[in-house]
Amino acid sequence: MSPKRALTRNQALVLQTLTASEEPLSAYAILDRLRDDGFRAPLQVYRALDALLQTGLVHRLDSLKAFVACAHPHEHADEAMVAFAICESCGRVWEFSDSKIEDRFAAWAAAEDFVTKTTTFEISGLCAACRKAQGPAGPGV
Ligand SMILES: [Zn+2]
Ligand SMILES: [Zn+2]
Repeated sequence: MSPKRALTRNQALVLQTLTASEEPLSAYAILDRLRDDGFRAPLQVYRALDALLQTGLVHRLDSLKAFVACAHPHEHADEAMVAFAICESCGRVWEFSDSKIEDRFAAWAAAEDFVTKTTTFEISGLCAACRKAQGPAGPGV
């Protein structure tokens, strides 16, 4: 693993914005929140995001085209699997990893001679709070 490098001011601001947010944010939403801090162009946000993604402090959710701060950066091994459960109703995201799923996938990749670059699972559904808010009748009733 690469040693931790100090974050630039822009990277620190982007990371703070994502950490403070309950929901994943698009690059443009991040830009909006950082205008008072001198951010003017999407490129500034993208540059900071690229660096943060590489260090594993931030994850990209492809299905939402949005970014989240890592829930536990210190636990990530270099090629560790990351899974996200995304509530379709409130937009909250839960990050978790599971070594059993990781082992299964690693075994599959070895058997297929597949070289994995990133392993990110995105699971969509409804969280407990949103299901409760919808009442006891299930969806479609
Ligand atoms: Zn993470
Ligand atoms: Zn929810």
